[in-house]
Amino acid sequence: MMRRTRATAATYAACALLLLGAAPAHAFRPSSPVVVPPDPYFPLSGNQGYDVRHYDLDLDFTPASHLLDARAAISAIADRPLHRFDLDYSGPAVQQVLVDGRPASYQRSGQKLTVVPARPIRAGSPFIVRVQYRGTPERISDPTLGDYGWINTPDGAVALNEPDGARTWYPLNDDLNDKATYTFRVTTPAGVTALANGEPDGDPQTRGGRTTATWQMRKPMAGYLSMVAVGDFTVTRTTDGGIPNITAYDPAGGETDAALHRTTAEALAWEKKRFGRYPFDSTGGIVDRIGVGYALETQSRPVYDGAPDELTVVHEIAHQWYGDSVTPTTWRDIWLNEGFATYTEWLWQEDHGGPTVQQTFDGLYATPAGDPFWNLRTADPGRDEIFNYDVVYLRGAMTLHVLRTTIGDRDFFALLREWADTHRYGNASTRDLQGLAEKISHRRLGPLFDAWLYTAAKPAPPS
Ligand SMILES: [Zn+2]
Repeated sequence: MMRRTRATAATYAACALLLLGAAPAHAFRPSSPVVVPPDPYFPLSGNQGYDVRHYDLDLDFTPASHLLDARAAISAIADRPLHRFDLDYSGPAVQQVLVDGRPASYQRSGQKLTVVPARPIRAGSPFIVRVQYRGTPERISDPTLGDYGWINTPDGAVALNEPDGARTWYPLNDDLNDKATYTFRVTTPAGVTALANGEPDGDPQTRGGRTTATWQMRKPMAGYLSMVAVGDFTVTRTTDGGIPNITAYDPAGGETDAALHRTTAEALAWEKKRFGRYPFDSTGGIVDRIGVGYALETQSRPVYDGAPDELTVVHEIAHQWYGDSVTPTTWRDIWLNEGFATYTEWLWQEDHGGPTVQQTFDGLYATPAGDPFWNLRTADPGRDEIFNYDVVYLRGAMTLHVLRTTIGDRDFFALLREWADTHRYGNASTRDLQGLAEKISHRRLGPLFDAWLYTAAKPAPPS
């Protein structure tokens, strides 16, 4: 994510937000029970007892009324006998819940939808939950995290879920560690455009004055990175370096997507050289008039609230490796997303006639010890501070720079690639990063990680 809260040359911030039929039974494999402790910052999100493999979201949306008529089919596998189970959901009124085709009883409480299947689900069994719901989804307005979730716009809607907003528009297991593939089938009045993560599955089909566009995200995705955008859009498609590049802009916004389209292709090519294989099957970006004040790294296709500058695009594309493909195990480690994406901006600037990375680091390190810049822990900033630009983004990037000057360029750039490669489509923690850096560099790095990530004070100058 990138939120524009600072305006000085060295410190721009952008935040981005990101956004799936039923898989055949033979695609499932049994797994042993996994107890994932609740997220320390969002303990109400995520559920026990099953592992989602695929979301099939059938969304019929009418911009004029903002009415959503939806069916979600969730393909999962039970990791224990399930007499009941929870989904994260705080969206419009539920009309029916089926488990494996049989009506199930259900109850809503807070942000949970509790489902009691007609017959208990056996451990190791695949099952499909179908939830039908209808109404106008509403955004979450959080006093510190801002506006997110389903955002209705004058000509449609955009879903920007980070951190826990997916529940505003579909039922899910909103656990960072339970990634799944997605199919989005979005039906709108003819003439309205619908985009989502991933790739279009054929051309949109129009019948009886309504058009259905189908998008597939074929790589595992965390719920916070799922996205749909509905409205008046002009779409540009090319293939750059073998990767389909699909961008779109709202023609009423006064800007086209020409710069975004070109910069997306350039950033992707430049980052592939440094980070290794691009993890997804397409790229792109969406510019809309949303009014949330940030951009979000929705998987494969970031969303921008108004036309972005070059560095914001570089930042959001970097997140495709760091955040989207390799996702933190808990929200405490969000610096693994934002520090890496911000450091990528510094590398890009240095390579494109801007300040060197060392100059950017030195300028920030000059911040006096008593400044609030230093008064939180980068790898545990607190729930309300996950988007703190100083603490998470800038000090996260500074940490990577100190790591680089400590282990040397060869090991550092090997680390960036191996981090993306080892944990591709998975989850990892700060301790995993430390372990990999120690393995590559044959150095003990505990003191560095503790001083730069786990201490709420200005670290001693890097030696
Ligand atoms: Zn970001």
